[in-house]
Amino acid sequence: MDIILLGPPGAGKGTQAQRLVDEHAMRQLSTGDMLRGAVAAGTPIGREAKAVMDRGELVSDEIVSALIDAELFAMGTGTGAIFDGYPRTEAQAQALDAILAKHGRSLDHVIELEVDEEALVERITGRFTCAECGTGYHDRFNRPAVTDTCDVCGAHSFKRRPDDNAETVRTRMALYRSETAPILPHYEGRGIVARVDGMAPIAEVTRAIDAILGR
Ligand code: AMP
Repeated sequence: MDIILLGPPGAGKGTQAQRLVDEHAMRQLSTGDMLRGAVAAGTPIGREAKAVMDRGELVSDEIVSALIDAELFAMGTGTGAIFDGYPRTEAQAQALDAILAKHGRSLDHVIELEVDEEALVERITGRFTCAECGTGYHDRFNRPAVTDTCDVCGAHSFKRRPDDNAETVRTRMALYRSETAPILPHYEGRGIVARVDGMAPIAEVTRAIDAILGR
C-alpha cells in the first residue's frame, strides 16, 4: 500500500507518518528529512538546498524526485511507502506517477490533513525532536513525560529546525496554497483522495487515517 500524506507545514504529516511506520511496518519517505540529512552530511545536494530551505522556498523538482526514486529503488516492493512532503508541485506529482510505474507500484490513497492555518504557526514554532532517535515533541501539545528526556530512547538532547520560525512558516504556507494544494485534482479524478480533520487530537487523526486504510 502506497499513500501520500498531504497538508500544509505543521499539519501533522510527519507525526502521523511515524505512527504508521510503527504500527503498520510501512516506510516514511520524507523529502524534507532526506534534504536535512544531505545538509547535515554536507553533500553537493545539501549545499545546494540549504539556503533554499532556510528561506522556506522549494528545492528543485528534479532533486527531490531523484531522491524519491533512489529511496524506492533501495526499498524494494514488499513495504508500503508513505510519501510525506512529496509531491509538492504538479511537476512532482507527474514525476511520482512515472517513478511508481517504473517500480511496479501505484498509489492507493492521498490523505489530506485539513487544518486551521492560524493554529499552524503556533504548532510549528513549538516543535522539536529528539536529537538521537528523531521522535517529535511540542512545547505545549506533546511534551516528553520527563522534562528533557526522550520518552522513546531516554536521550537528553533535542533539536529544532532552523526553518521553523514564524517568518519562514508564512512563505511555506503560501507555497502550499499556490503550488501544492492545486495538485489535489490530479488525484481527485482517480477517486483516491480522502480528507481528515488535522485539528483533532493526534490519536484521533491516527484512527481516522487507519479507517481510510481499512486497518
Ligand atoms: P518539510 O520537512 O517537508 O517541511 O520540508 C522542509 C523544506 O525542505 C521545505 O521547506 C523545502 O525547502 C524543502 N523540501 C522538502 N520537500 C520538498 C519537495 N517535495 N519539493 C521541494 N522542496 C522540498
